[in-house]
Amino acid sequence: MLLEGKVAIVTGGTRGIGFEIVRKYLANGAKVVLFGSRKETVDKALAKLKEENADWEVDGMFPKLTDAAEVEKAVLDVKEKFGKVDILVNNAGISQSTPLYDYTPEEFDKVIDLNVKALFYAILPAAKVMKEQGGGCIINTSSMVSISGQPSGVGYPTSKSAVNGMTFSLARELGKDNIRVNAVAPGVTKTDMVAALPQAMVDAISAKIPLGRPGEPEDVANAFLYLASDLASYVTGEILSVDGACRS
Ligand code: NAD
Repeated sequence: MLLEGKVAIVTGGTRGIGFEIVRKYLANGAKVVLFGSRKETVDKALAKLKEENADWEVDGMFPKLTDAAEVEKAVLDVKEKFGKVDILVNNAGISQSTPLYDYTPEEFDKVIDLNVKALFYAILPAAKVMKEQGGGCIINTSSMVSISGQPSGVGYPTSKSAVNGMTFSLARELGKDNIRVNAVAPGVTKTDMVAALPQAMVDAISAKIPLGRPGEPEDVANAFLYLASDLASYVTGEILSVDGACRS
């Protein structure tokens, strides 16, 4: 098993891509704490996972990810309970497709707060724990639109380009502490996030996918598994596209 004995935190682990990452990590021997937004959704996800395999060591918390102090406390609670934090997956995110002329500054802030600032809030305490224990691994969630842009909803690609910048920079800064920092950039993936987009937008993107289909959450979770494992021991500062080669 690729993650035997590792302790992982996965934000937004209650559904979609995050839930698949949690399942993959558990199935590969990790202990996982998923961070969700509400107690009910966290409890539901934990029940589903325990039903699949009662031996999996999985726990859940629901800190407000946009509150630096709450996130720091949650990360330190994980260290307290499990003794270390080997892997931090920053997966939680929101999408936005509002046209520019209807966009409000409040909407823009909301996207940046969760998709960018919340990553920094989680990385800060986690990196300190990882440095102290001699190493670790951080995986952020970017998007293919961080490179291509998208025809409306400027906040979302802006936020994901910022994720790339954070990933490149922290890989350079934290290498000396044996902390690898990478990101996965999914393309169109079949989750609630895509179900919420205008169908015309999804159809237009899907028609351009060279592999001829949108991604499944498991396709994306496999990349998170690889990057968290020792198979990627010399991989850092990488944005790994999982998009069927759909980049425009
Ligand atoms: P999803 O909507 O199914 O899941 C999003 C997750 O983020 C959920 O677990 C949700 O609870 C959590 N979340 C949302 N708002 C939150 C908040 N305020 N506080 C805490 N948690 C919150 O979407 P998904 O497709 O699984 O997206 C996961 C990640 O993948 C996101 O970062 C997204 O930007 C990225 N992504 C998705 C696609 C896609 O096509 N689905 C493409 C590129 C990138």
